Amino acid sequence: MTQTATRLPQLGDWDSLDELAELQDAQLPELLTWAGRSPFYRSRFGTAAPPRDRSDLSALPLTSKQDLRNNYPFGMLAVPQRRLATYHESSGTAGTPTPSYYTAEDWVDLAERYARKWVGISDSDVFLVRTPYALMITGHLAHAAARLHGATVVPGDNRSLAMPYSRVVRVLHALGVTLTWSMPTETLLWAAAAKAAGLRPGPDFPALRALFVGGEPLGPARKRRIGEIWQVPVVEEYGSTETGSLAGECPSGRLHLWADRAIFEVYHPDTGRVTADGAGQLVVTPLFREAMPLLRYNLEDDVEISYAGCGCGWTLPTVRVLGRSAFGYQVVGRTVTQARLEDLVFGLPVQHEVLFWRARAEQGRLQVEIEVPAGQRDAACRALTASIRSTWDIPCEVTGTSEGTLVPGHVLTTMPDVVKPRSLFGPGEDWGKALLYY
Ligand SMILES: [Zn+2]
Repeated sequence: MTQTATRLPQLGDWDSLDELAELQDAQLPELLTWAGRSPFYRSRFGTAAPPRDRSDLSALPLTSKQDLRNNYPFGMLAVPQRRLATYHESSGTAGTPTPSYYTAEDWVDLAERYARKWVGISDSDVFLVRTPYALMITGHLAHAAARLHGATVVPGDNRSLAMPYSRVVRVLHALGVTLTWSMPTETLLWAAAAKAAGLRPGPDFPALRALFVGGEPLGPARKRRIGEIWQVPVVEEYGSTETGSLAGECPSGRLHLWADRAIFEVYHPDTGRVTADGAGQLVVTPLFREAMPLLRYNLEDDVEISYAGCGCGWTLPTVRVLGRSAFGYQVVGRTVTQARLEDLVFGLPVQHEVLFWRARAEQGRLQVEIEVPAGQRDAACRALTASIRSTWDIPCEVTGTSEGTLVPGHVLTTMPDVVKPRSLFGPGEDWGKALLYY
């Protein structure tokens, strides 16, 4: 086993799963010391001897999202607050937010983990960040990772009024963007916006090298279709605001957990057991996190972890993120899931040009709408009806709608009027915009 000069492990530092476990064990005492400095873990450890190694860790109860909320905002803080570099919150549902915060040193670990992309990131890249910057970590992660490797960052927050789709397409095209980071659905919206601007996704964007995607379930058929449309690899990423990147895709198309930077376990809610692999809820112990140590944090994401080898040769466990893929609606006794239905829609031949769809489980039937050009409409609807019937044997009604029905054309083409705040107006001017500057 070779050691690098930095304190953080790097890919290639270990040759076997045993050596990987040794790397984890080597960092655990420091992490447990850090954890004991936060009010939350100090109180959890109590007056007993503080935990020191893996068997002590295994004896600790899981840390839940509710624990984070109960200790909002700084009950998990393990360093003087002046050392914090950033503060974040999860995008979650209403109620008390789930906080997370990091030191500058924590950020080196975060940025390095995100930057582990098999297509590489270099100083010749122009990197469009198209995820939120507000409160969440996602935009800042990609931004920091791209900067770490010298790329030119184009900050294109998908929740900002300053960055409508028309501007995204202009930037992608005019700047020769080589890499992007977004949810998968975004890349389909860009494709539609490109067409609306008279450009062909793929041929008219020759600089593009890869699309980095995450934050949303992505089935194999939709992933393949996105790659066909843009004619570049689609590279998946998995993580959370509370932990940063946890897994990245290998050249063989599988997600590998960054087990040199965190310890991963699987919690089985039905039995209460915790195991190293198998299917259940993902439990994470980030190893290089000083500001807000998390010990056995239950992300509550449904996953399946495996230590079986992968063709890529990385000595790292693989993870399948099941998410809410098992969730569905009943239609005449059959469970229809979004994941399966998505696979059928994007299993349609590419020439049908179907990018957008929606469906609703109704009394006794499934209603589906797809946006499809008039010339393809009958064939696409027939094909989808047939595949739904053969999958579930349920009554369904598939309707082909014209472009602009599900995603209105103005969303793809308009440039919202984003101005600076102003109070004085001239005669006849609309002063309804006073102060409200968008
Ligand atoms: Zn692999």
